[in-house]
Amino acid sequence: MKFDTKVIHAGVKPDPSTGAIMTPIFQTSTYVQASPGDHKGYQYARSRNPTRTALEQNLAALENGFDAVCFSSGLAALDAILKMLKPGDEVISTNDLYGGSFRLMSQVFQKYGIEFKFIDLQDVENIAKHINSKTKMIWVETPTNPMLNIIDIKAVVEQSNENILVCVDNTFASPYLQQPLSLGADLVMHSATKYLGGHSDVIHGAVVAKTKEIADQLHFIQNAAGAVPGPQDCFLVLRGIKTLHLRVQRACENAFEIAKFLKTHPKVSKVYYPGLESHKNHHVAKRQMNGFGGMVSFDLHENTFDAAKKVLSSAQYFSLAESLGGVESLFGHPATMTHGSIPKEERLKVGITDSLIRLSVGVEDINDLIEDLDKALA
Ligand SMILES: *Cc1c(COP(=O)(O)O)cnc(C)c1O
Repeated sequence: MKFDTKVIHAGVKPDPSTGAIMTPIFQTSTYVQASPGDHKGYQYARSRNPTRTALEQNLAALENGFDAVCFSSGLAALDAILKMLKPGDEVISTNDLYGGSFRLMSQVFQKYGIEFKFIDLQDVENIAKHINSKTKMIWVETPTNPMLNIIDIKAVVEQSNENILVCVDNTFASPYLQQPLSLGADLVMHSATKYLGGHSDVIHGAVVAKTKEIADQLHFIQNAAGAVPGPQDCFLVLRGIKTLHLRVQRACENAFEIAKFLKTHPKVSKVYYPGLESHKNHHVAKRQMNGFGGMVSFDLHENTFDAAKKVLSSAQYFSLAESLGGVESLFGHPATMTHGSIPKEERLKVGITDSLIRLSVGVEDINDLIEDLDKALA
């Protein structure tokens, strides 16, 4: 099956009892057994639920993995992955990563004796210096938030060894644009809240594992710790995925036009978009992605919070809100929103100024979006 067919058909079959073409929402906590041990593979809904199983099989197909394991949020998915480690283990991670992932690593798991080294993974040569016998995981996020840096997944895999799990947070790209397991990674994590769900109506997370061994460990943790999604949320993600390719394709087209428009705008000082030839790792993005994504960040010549505030409150279609990957276009202000808890000096070092604006470009008409931005900038 090709990707555009998988989004609609993989893991999904008409319901055998009624013929319903849509996967039913199995809103049940338990399943009746005819006699002890005589059941249909489902005993209790924390352990397994048919709506969740359909979604897990669909996600495994999209990422070319052995199996997928679903969770109640993206961070619950990361939490389950980190629970595969033990005290004394070390993790090498991107220094420029989603704030919630950084918080979970540095403020929760560090307490339990797992060590994290946050380094610049754009510089692949940097990795070897930090690997030792305790290194058990490399955590990659690409493209990064909000600077849209690109990390070379294949080059990271080449630096690792058989004791190390390479994990990729694939939320920003979605499996339509990037399939890390095919580039040699062992695990892929998603905040399905974003592009997979795609309609800003659900919080959900998933991990796709390359091997049965990893999938078994994660299913064990899923059942043992219990951060499972409800069946309605699984249904919403399954339904969102059916149009993933169409939505992401349009978002990419719109984002590219917007990046070009911003690049020539007199009030804009910098544009960060992996599709522009001026982007530092454009050549890597071109090799490992099938498109450059729907996220664009830009900075203003007038380098103040006030200048950004004026733009952020003057648009009609770009709403100021956390999150990304929905059909509607959003503004984000990293300095006060996603990266508000990072000290200013640290923020400035990576380019997160008070005037940096992040766009999650939606699937509206491109002329309306450009007109909206032009007005807001004016
Ligand atoms: C949103 C996000 C997460 C966290 O996912 P939740 O579903 O909000 O828990 C992790 N990584 C990235 C890149 C994200 O954008």
